[in-house]
Amino acid sequence: MVLETAMKATRLSNFVGGVWRASEAREVLPVPNPATEEVLAEVPLSTGNDVDAAVSAAVQAFAGWSEVPVVERARLLFRFRELLVRDLHSLARTLTQENGKTLKEAEAEIWRGIEVVEFAAGMPHLIKGEITPQVSRGIDMELVRMPVGVVAGITPFNFPVMVPLWMLPLALGAGNTFVLKPSERTPLSATRLAELLTEAGFPEGVFNLVHGGKEVVSRLLEHPDVHAVSFVGSQPVAETVYRTAAARGKRVQALAGAKNHHIVLQDAHLAKSVQNVASSAFGCAGQRCMAGSVVVVEEAVADRFLASLGKAADEICVGNGLEEGIEQGPLIRSEHREKVLNKIEEGVKEGAVLFRDGRDEQAKQEKGYFLGPTILDRVRPEMAVVREELFAPVLSVIRVKDLTEALEVVNRSRFGNAAVLYTESGESARRFREEVQAGMLGINVGVPVPSAFFPFSGWKQSFYGDLHANGRDAIEFYTKKKMVTSRWFGSEEESPKAGR
Ligand code: NAD
Repeated sequence: MVLETAMKATRLSNFVGGVWRASEAREVLPVPNPATEEVLAEVPLSTGNDVDAAVSAAVQAFAGWSEVPVVERARLLFRFRELLVRDLHSLARTLTQENGKTLKEAEAEIWRGIEVVEFAAGMPHLIKGEITPQVSRGIDMELVRMPVGVVAGITPFNFPVMVPLWMLPLALGAGNTFVLKPSERTPLSATRLAELLTEAGFPEGVFNLVHGGKEVVSRLLEHPDVHAVSFVGSQPVAETVYRTAAARGKRVQALAGAKNHHIVLQDAHLAKSVQNVASSAFGCAGQRCMAGSVVVVEEAVADRFLASLGKAADEICVGNGLEEGIEQGPLIRSEHREKVLNKIEEGVKEGAVLFRDGRDEQAKQEKGYFLGPTILDRVRPEMAVVREELFAPVLSVIRVKDLTEALEVVNRSRFGNAAVLYTESGESARRFREEVQAGMLGINVGVPVPSAFFPFSGWKQSFYGDLHANGRDAIEFYTKKKMVTSRWFGSEEESPKAGR
């Protein structure tokens, strides 16, 4: 009942120590639906005191939670997984309303999150230690994994369900307690996650939620009782979070922005590569860290590729993601849209050719922050539209003579999240795999997101830290190792084992 009230209240509450608590905030922000501008709720910009209360609840809960047998923690994750599946459609609606992506995209996002919960439910196996008996006479050596303590998760607006689920099932499964600070632009999905975790039976204080912005983040990074920080967001903030938290002795993983290049060679399957590039660049309105935002195409096939890409872009139906048949939603806020429009202008001034102009899409919609698929041709690698992340359905096309030049262009980028190659040549694919400077590669796959049991592996300025999200990296990140060297004096006096 408490949970229902929390969702209906105009002003969202924090979830601290198992209860919904009004924030001390003096400032609140509206949360508009970016497709309709209807205000869905007000989010409080919580204070340092609010954070202290949540961290203190997490500290108190840690002693008990870390003692809960790992199989019991796994059972709660199984239950949480069932609730996510039960509420998939309603959660997807909430997600679409606050973020703008289409219902289909929202459901796909939730499934990717569920995949992490399923992976984390294997914790009894994942958290196992190691033992080497008899490293010396009568001496055994054991590696035991312990939880780290209180983990803070700070998440972006573009995947309000999946990104928190990259963190909390694995952190909780490993025996840590958690404080989530979701994006203030998409706080509703996180509120639903808190409700579902509670319904699943996670004890009070194990999961806490504090709404807000910079002030909350700063306090979490400074707090002496926060032991690890998982951050996902833009590059400048990721870098600051990494530096600040690491300087205070916390372990940090900070996943950052991107500028993903797709290379199209002349031997590529043209129709399929067009389809893949279009959905990678324009899906989720380009607001994905895995979106292809630059296509590097061999000159010999560039005109044909572009003609077909233009047609594919024309067919994308833009609008309110809750409506049937809509394939691309709005941008998150009007200020973000303004910034992107300026960048498009800047690109044109620098010499790019506006092959497809999506700016008139706004006029076709009653309200909201829309930008249709936009394609800039004859872009050069030094232009701002290539150097900077736009986070919008804007695709820059760079023409090159061959794979060698294409790889040079890709490797100039300061980002290294994903890179994709379209080709039918095994030799080119192998060379791409060896030479490209990015952590997640697609070969004829437009959005090469690794499954939950592999690490999400950005390179360069797309990632700060050592251990990535998901996969074994996450188990390493959310646990600390204890090495036990033991000798039992009695056993040294025993006779050799039978059979030896
Ligand atoms: P953002 O950096 O604006 O916000 C991320 C989080 O940081 C939010 O919770 C926000 O409240 C907080 N924050 C914002 N400014 C801050 C500041 N100055 N100090 C402290 N905290 C601050 O990012 P966003 O716009 O919400 O999300 C989009 C960005 O996230 C894109 O750059 C995208 O590439 C990146 N992203 C990366 C990945 C990845 O896996 N590498 C995944 C998803 C999104």
